[in-house]
Amino acid sequence: MSHPHPELGPPPALPPGALRVIPLGGLGEIGRNMTVFEHEGRLLIVDCGVLFPEDRHPGVDLILPDFEPIRDRLDEVEAIVLTHGHEDHIGAVPYLLRERPDIPVVGSQLTLALVESKLREHRLKDVPRHVVRERQRVQFGPFDLEFVAVNHSIPDALAVAIRTAAGLVLHTGDFKMDQLPLDRRLTDLRAFSRLGEEGVDLFLVDSTNAEMPGFTISERDITPVLDRIFASAERRIIVACFASHIHRVQQVMDAAVDHGRKVAYVGRSMVRNMGVAGELGFLRVPPNTLVDVRELDNYAPHEVVLISTGSQGEPLSALSRIAGRDHPQIRIETGDTVVLASSLIPGNENAVFRVMNGLSRWGADVIHKGNALVHVSGHASAGELLYAYNIVKPRNVLPVHGEIRHMRANADLAVATGVRRDRVVVAEDGVVVDLVDGVARITGKVECGYVYVDGSTVGDITEVSLKDRRILGEEGFISVIVVVDSVTGKVTGGPEIKARGFAEDDSVFDPVRPLIEEALTRAGREGVDDIYQLQQLIRRTVGRWVSDSHRRRPMIIPVVVEI
Ligand SMILES: [Zn+2]
Ligand SMILES: [Zn+2]
Repeated sequence: MSHPHPELGPPPALPPGALRVIPLGGLGEIGRNMTVFEHEGRLLIVDCGVLFPEDRHPGVDLILPDFEPIRDRLDEVEAIVLTHGHEDHIGAVPYLLRERPDIPVVGSQLTLALVESKLREHRLKDVPRHVVRERQRVQFGPFDLEFVAVNHSIPDALAVAIRTAAGLVLHTGDFKMDQLPLDRRLTDLRAFSRLGEEGVDLFLVDSTNAEMPGFTISERDITPVLDRIFASAERRIIVACFASHIHRVQQVMDAAVDHGRKVAYVGRSMVRNMGVAGELGFLRVPPNTLVDVRELDNYAPHEVVLISTGSQGEPLSALSRIAGRDHPQIRIETGDTVVLASSLIPGNENAVFRVMNGLSRWGADVIHKGNALVHVSGHASAGELLYAYNIVKPRNVLPVHGEIRHMRANADLAVATGVRRDRVVVAEDGVVVDLVDGVARITGKVECGYVYVDGSTVGDITEVSLKDRRILGEEGFISVIVVVDSVTGKVTGGPEIKARGFAEDDSVFDPVRPLIEEALTRAGREGVDDIYQLQQLIRRTVGRWVSDSHRRRPMIIPVVVEI
């Protein structure tokens, strides 16, 4: 992995009483957040999430943090602390627990309920669970944890303060400072301030929106916009949002009730998560509001709202299937209104635009954050981050949760509030940061790459096989089969050339056949009879020809058969 410290080697032994921070994911990318803390020979993990694949990861379902740096030390893990229930923080928990199922999992009520359904899917039983609340303090080995309420795009999110002999660490998790949040649960700035008074030695801070000036708009500002959309829609309304955005679903549900519409959930994760949220009281569902998607035919189009998954254009999601008129129950019609009440995660642009165009083709009105205020971010903008630094007054800062540009912008904010530049550590995944005698410094790196989940396999797909898939997808492949006489070395059959994704007509290969024969004859004269060498010769000959005459670089698979 690339990072700004190519010179770094493995970290030295951790001095007694010091604290080590090993980020295994989330620093240098938005996703698969996972940070390991080490103290007195014991480990604490904060978050364990997934990263969603992009176009450059063909066939990959999920990307996990690399557990390799701690694989031999899983016995030393005291607990996994989960700051909130987003996939980029909890999605990889089952994969870690597969390796040691009795690691205690610590998090808020909603977070653990969302984890629970994952554990069931992975058939993980008897995992020790510790439900915690804000302002609660619990001890795991040498780690004294205190939880702090934070406001984010999912309810029940927590920051965590970690006290050890090395000092006090405060990890914000994902947060913003909406001053009028829908559930009235504020980011607990009084706790931030109290911890600041005590002295925060290392502050790990969400960098996602550090480049955004000012303050993140309140969730509440979406309500009148939804109200206007509902007032003017004459037919069915479909709202797509993240299946974890319980407050957004609540807003849509409230608007539906106000405008006399029934609500149906569409998509497996939406049904599951809203079931959990409703049961635990995080979502208020008025009586006689919910209907099953299979009962929709009993209602006129202007009597229903569908709340759907698929806001990121995921190809198998409900919304993609609706856009392709491929959904078993829902048929998009002219005059329907579709609201994409979500952010557009970088890398998903093409997929989302495909869905929007698909919906428009059938005559739907598509409303999205580009043309109406139907989404606000869940992360603190620069103004809020400045507040956080001024309230906490940390001695050392480690920006987390962001691409490198976000983390650099966050670092600049810390410096602007008076944190010494040399105490603001910009690190990436695998870069080890030690807190020794109150000073945080980069001391080394551990090797950590990407772990790909493809169907039921974990880690079998490598960078090399992904590169092969990209070549196959973009350039196609050519196979060349040649039969040679094992005694004389002469070509007795072929070259037979087959191609896929290259040219429809095999006659395009007529000019290269004599080149292959010529190369093999010359090799025969020079006494080359090793099959591997002959195959390489064919690969080079065909590769050069295809590059010169077609400007292409397909995968070339030479096969030499001896008889
Ligand atoms: Zn989050
Ligand atoms: Zn996150």
